[in-house]
Amino acid sequence: MAAEDLSQGASALTNTARLYAMSGASRHLAAFMHEAGVVRQRDRTLKQVRRMDPAAAERTAIDQAERHLGELDELEARAVAAAQDGEAEQAQQAFFGPDHKRALAAVVGGLDHFRALVSARTLAEMRAAQQESDCAAAVAKIMLALTAFVFLAVLYFVLRRRVSRPLARLTGVVLRLARQDYAVEVPPDRRRDEIGDITQAVRVFRENGLERERLEAERRADQRVKHCILQMTHRLQACGAIDELAGVVACFAPQAFPDLSGRLYVLEGPGQILVAVAMWREPRGGSEAFPPTARWGVRRGRRHGRSAHGGGVPCPHADLADIATHCAPLTAQGETIVLLYFETPAGRDGAPGADHPFLDLMCDHVALALANLRLRQRLADLADRDGLTGLFNRRRLDHALAALRSNTQVACIIADIDHFQRFNDQFGHDAGDVVMQHVAQILAEATEGLAAAYRFGGEEFTLLLPSLNATRARELAETVRGRVSEARLSHNGRLLGRITLSLGVADAPGGGSASSLIQRADAALLRAKGEERDRTVLAGPQPTEISAA
Ligand code: GH3
Ligand code: MG
Ligand code: MG
Repeated sequence: MAAEDLSQGASALTNTARLYAMSGASRHLAAFMHEAGVVRQRDRTLKQVRRMDPAAAERTAIDQAERHLGELDELEARAVAAAQDGEAEQAQQAFFGPDHKRALAAVVGGLDHFRALVSARTLAEMRAAQQESDCAAAVAKIMLALTAFVFLAVLYFVLRRRVSRPLARLTGVVLRLARQDYAVEVPPDRRRDEIGDITQAVRVFRENGLERERLEAERRADQRVKHCILQMTHRLQACGAIDELAGVVACFAPQAFPDLSGRLYVLEGPGQILVAVAMWREPRGGSEAFPPTARWGVRRGRRHGRSAHGGGVPCPHADLADIATHCAPLTAQGETIVLLYFETPAGRDGAPGADHPFLDLMCDHVALALANLRLRQRLADLADRDGLTGLFNRRRLDHALAALRSNTQVACIIADIDHFQRFNDQFGHDAGDVVMQHVAQILAEATEGLAAAYRFGGEEFTLLLPSLNATRARELAETVRGRVSEARLSHNGRLLGRITLSLGVADAPGGGSASSLIQRADAALLRAKGEERDRTVLAGPQPTEISAA
């Protein structure tokens, strides 16, 4: 741009000078003088170029162009002066001569050289700038690519860690839950997003499943216990004696409550002691026998429990400190007849009554079965026993005789109190009853374990002696007769006098058939009566008197 200005300035000055030289018009001289001011402009341009700190070659070129411009100015100034002096021809030759051409060409060439140098430098700088720009663009692209890569990597890891893995874990958990494998653990996840919600839902599903399983196991356990108690109840109802009942309880109690041991106590003996008749799983507490008042349950007439280590009142002489116990007194007609005792294994706390909801049900069933058994026994007693003497009655004798086989070895004694009516007449019927009871008691005691004693009717008694022959039966009859005759009874302060018996003895099959046993014994008794009483007569084809008073 500066070279262009310098070139145009020089060209304009030259043209104006030439016009003046050619025409000699003063206006052209004025214009030339004006153009000379361009030279001062040129100086400012050159100063600006130098201030721009050009390269050495450019500085040299601009210095050279300035020198050529100066030479041209001098040449044209001399030509203009010649024209002013009226030497027009000389001025024209100066302006169009070879010197002027060379000077002008030198100016133009110098300025072109400077321009070429500046253009070359500018081009080089532009290329360098372009390269720099290209490099920066490449770096920017690489940075962009790296940023994109990092972003994608982060996105991948975030998706994998936050979405893919949790979903895969949850899928595994759900599959196991679908197979009802509730042992699987739901991974902890407290996120507040959709996966967190799904995890929470799976956790709730698992907890519900566990609860359902627990309830199902509880229901199955309850069913098992109830089934066990039902089986026990069926068998209890078929029991005919306390021993059988105790056996059934000892069999089923440990099945129904495998973690409890216990005992079954029954009220026994004239002293009314609770005696253990059954035991299961070797209980440490309780004892073999104790008075009913030793148990709080019996005293209170209701179930009594205590937990280990001090929870509840212990029963005196029965409970150990480290076991939990449960006592259920079972009553019939208002009287405690049986006690069920349970205890937990040593060292385990809890209360059997509270921890085993069907324990009371079992006690209820045992109590009911026991009450039924006692009722049946009482009814049987009423049906088969004589109310006054307590001996079996005639009905029971008939059953026993009907059950005898014809070839069974059995002996029979029929005893009749001699002159019994006299006691009634002399001392009253109450006294007669006392005599009857006393004789019945002697009969029962003397023949205990050997015979069954029956009240045949009135003041007559029958003894059936299985496996005994007539000889042995006769000895027994004599024993009885002796004991009765030795007794001294009094009633209302009055001595009742001597009691004697007449007895007839028969046996089968030695002395005849079982069906005619009673007749033959009765016939022997008649013989004894006929022979002044107080004696034993042995039956037979020819009944023979064996002893006499
Ligand atoms: P014998 O020596 O011949 O057997 O004479 P006996 O008096 O013992 O026999 P008898 O048949 O003449 O009298 C029996 C009486 O026993 C008649 C009846 O009133 C009485 N008796 C029957 N059962 C009972 C009873 O349960 N209590 C009382 N006090 N008397 C009874
Ligand atoms: Mg009589
Ligand atoms: Mg009689």
